[in-house]
Amino acid sequence: MPFLTISHISKAFDATPVLHDIGLAVARGEILCLLGPSGCGKTTLLRIIAGLERPDAGQILLEGEDITPVPSHKRDFGLMFQDYVLFPHMTVGENIAFGLKMHGWDKEQAAARVQALLALVDMTGYQERPVYELSGGQQQRVALARSLAPNPRLLMLDEPLGALDRTLRDQLLVELRSILQQLGQTAIYVTHDQVEAFAVADRVVLMRAGRIEQVGTPEALYLRPATPFAARFLGMHNILSGSVISLTPPVLETPVGRLHAAELPAGLRVGDAVQLVIRPEGARVATADATGPNHLTLPLAARSFRGAHTLVQLAAPQGLSLTFELPGPGFDIRPGQRAHLTIGPEAVVVFGEHEEEKIKRTDMGRSAPNWRDN
Ligand code: ATP
Repeated sequence: MPFLTISHISKAFDATPVLHDIGLAVARGEILCLLGPSGCGKTTLLRIIAGLERPDAGQILLEGEDITPVPSHKRDFGLMFQDYVLFPHMTVGENIAFGLKMHGWDKEQAAARVQALLALVDMTGYQERPVYELSGGQQQRVALARSLAPNPRLLMLDEPLGALDRTLRDQLLVELRSILQQLGQTAIYVTHDQVEAFAVADRVVLMRAGRIEQVGTPEALYLRPATPFAARFLGMHNILSGSVISLTPPVLETPVGRLHAAELPAGLRVGDAVQLVIRPEGARVATADATGPNHLTLPLAARSFRGAHTLVQLAAPQGLSLTFELPGPGFDIRPGQRAHLTIGPEAVVVFGEHEEEKIKRTDMGRSAPNWRDN
């Protein structure tokens, strides 16, 4: 039996549907991430699970017990929300102990628990410090300790690190995941940031307009996005239309020439129209005389050195542009010159045309990287 089962949850606000028939199962000790663009319903689903919002339809079972009618404060869930800030007039220790008093812990037990949690979040010795003296990262550690203190059955986190800068966030994400794993804490984590979801989750639920688009491990989602929407949301912007010209081996005709893919979705036939994605890390520099499938020779539109890789943007036919991350700094082609690249077949992900609406060309540049030619 799953630890938490969410079935047929629907919700509308002012007659506008926000969640449509959501079903999910969460295993004990699992870290599940709800990922999706702004407004897709992540927070509403989290709030329904937490009991802060009532669903219009559906059921939530915790270890087999129907908790749908149970009020939030009786669910024994922990919350760590970005806007659920620490009490500024209290010390670190008082903040962490706050929930314990409400749960009837005696003073000695609570004091021992506070010490254990301070150690867990690597803040031993900070007990008497007022929270306003802490850095942003330290405040988030205290917030985590506070939400974990009463041993919640389920921890719910909504963009908990959203206010922090990228470097600090990356560091805290690794720590957060390791703390939750150490405790075997079941957790649901909401974010709109794919990198954050991949770093923290055992499994990711990708949502779109109130529905679940795809569920899987971070690796499975990245390697096999189920739809062009999933691919695009996971940072793959090289989306092309094409057609199948061979099934074995899988070969496609595309606006940038013939491409071999590692595999095709089941049910495709020769001549079928498809959409395909070329993963940004799937290209390597080729020699100028390389020919045949999977070799691209296209004018370089822009390049941008990023340290571990160089981001290159190629101008493709039909007004398309393709972006790749080439490893290392040694790419010496200048904008305007022709670049020669080879694409690995495993970097070509194919979708049947029926799998989703056609991607509009104008979408291709959406949330594309910032360019600085050099
Ligand atoms: P974000 O990442 O921006 O927080 P989200 O995926 O968490 O987005 P929700 O906050 O769940 O999305 O909102 C889903 C939709 O429901 C949005 O269109 C939002 O405006 C609407 N909505 C959410 N709460 C309410 C409310 N209390 N009353 C009316 N509409 C609401």
